[in-house]
Amino acid sequence: VGASALADALVALVAPFVAAPARAALMFDLDGTLAPIVDDPAAARPIPDALPILERLAERYHTVAVVSGRPVAFLAEVLPASIVLSGLYGLEGRVGGRFTHHRDAARWRPVVTEAVQRAERGAPDGSLVEPKGLSLTMHYRGRPDLADAVNDFAARLGAELGLAVHAAKMSVELHPPIAVDKGTAVRSLAEGADAALYVGDDRGDLPAFAALGELAGKGTSVARVAIGGPEVPGELAAAADLVLAQQSDVTALLAALVPS
Ligand SMILES: [Mg+2]
Repeated sequence: VGASALADALVALVAPFVAAPARAALMFDLDGTLAPIVDDPAAARPIPDALPILERLAERYHTVAVVSGRPVAFLAEVLPASIVLSGLYGLEGRVGGRFTHHRDAARWRPVVTEAVQRAERGAPDGSLVEPKGLSLTMHYRGRPDLADAVNDFAARLGAELGLAVHAAKMSVELHPPIAVDKGTAVRSLAEGADAALYVGDDRGDLPAFAALGELAGKGTSVARVAIGGPEVPGELAAAADLVLAQQSDVTALLAALVPS
């Protein structure tokens, strides 16, 4: 869509939110949504324009949250203190400056540590192992030819250690087999809100969209926004109320959400 069509679509989308921000929850994925995808995952940062707007939104809205597969320790380094954080798909959190853990997560920490050690020793040469505390991501963005080898390695490791394995963009993740995903995180963050918005770019965001679909069935105003582009999964775009053409358009969405 062109600039003016985007502006019109945004005005319609945000109307229930700007009308009653104190009753609304705004939730965002980080990588590929608030932050451009970069080759080195440790170098990912939210687009600088977004940060002051997020802080303004956090002053006015009931909840402004980032829901990510990243550990909360990383999210806390790159996002303002006023933003609620849900990390590792809800295994970790930060609300009002307090750090929290899912009650079943702690006993899996040594298992994940062993998975990291085995991956660092045995993962296909050229892939990148990223330990995340309670989870582990194996990347092949720099070597797309290794996709099958890395996925096979992760599947074997997950089966041996009892960890759950999830495919993501140019990567595969191993998690404790605890039933959390972005859907459980969004259900908890949006509890009691009259309006709930979620923005994401990847397969892991589908459960968040599904959770909003359930809330819509109970009368909540919802907005599901997908970041478009060549890598967006077709199911996510199909389930979205609005597809932004590119990641940088998220700034226009954030600006539109600022109540007048
Ligand atoms: Mg993402």
